[in-house]
Order: sequence, then structure tokens, then C-alpha cells
Amino acid sequence: MPHGGADLLLSERLAARREMTMADECMFCRIVRKEVPSQPIYEDHDLLAVPDIQPAAPVHVLIIPKEHMVNLNDAGKNDVGILGKMLRLSAKIANEKGIAESGYRVVINNGADGCQVIPHLHLHLIGGKQLQERIG
Ligand SMILES: [Zn+2]
Repeated sequence: MPHGGADLLLSERLAARREMTMADECMFCRIVRKEVPSQPIYEDHDLLAVPDIQPAAPVHVLIIPKEHMVNLNDAGKNDVGILGKMLRLSAKIANEKGIAESGYRVVINNGADGCQVIPHLHLHLIGGKQLQERIG
């Protein structure tokens, strides 16, 4: 057996374990597992939607995939369905909140420069007031 093979397996195992630990400690994973209380406004097999605890506008909802992904960089081919569901759910909640017609913003912050605070992919649905034109 080539020497590198065993090393690769070991590093993969270590990476998997590190991921597991991250998911164990991840705030959103803990909310998904109900270890941390939240007030879900929507929940299904794949997604959870909760109000943002520091709302930037009258409507500010976080849409969170239940499976741990750090951000879009972590999303693969198999996650296309989930990503689509996140966008569809944002429109559905906007409609339920009565802001579908007045308009709203859908934001995914990715990484440090993107101001991502919690390293578990989530989408912000923001509306209920006139938002600032400038995003950057
Ligand atoms: Zn997580």
C-alpha cells in the first residue's frame, strides 16, 4: 500500500471528526436539534426559518438549512435542491408577512469579507421598510 494512501485516509478521518465537532458546537445546528430554544416560523425536513434576534428591519427572518454547511463554498451539486428551496421559502414567508408586493431583500453573507457571523449557511429575508440602496 502506498504510504500516501494511509495518510490521506487519516487526514480525511480527522477532517470528518473536526466537521462533526464544529456541527456539535454550531449555534444553528443546536437550534435545529432544539438544544437551543427558538421560535420557528417555518420548519420542514430540510429547512428552519426563525426571526433574527437582532432585526435590521421590521421583517428579518433567517432561513437555515438543517444540514450543516459553512456557506455557499460548501454547497455541492447535491445541495442545489436545498438552495432552491431556501429561495422559494423566502418568497413564501415574504408573502405571509405581507411584504411580497412592497418588496424585500434576500441576502447570503459568505465568509469574513461578506460579514458572515455564524459559520452555518443561512439566508436573510429583510423587508417591511424602505431599505438602503447601497449594499456594499
Ligand atoms: Zn451548523
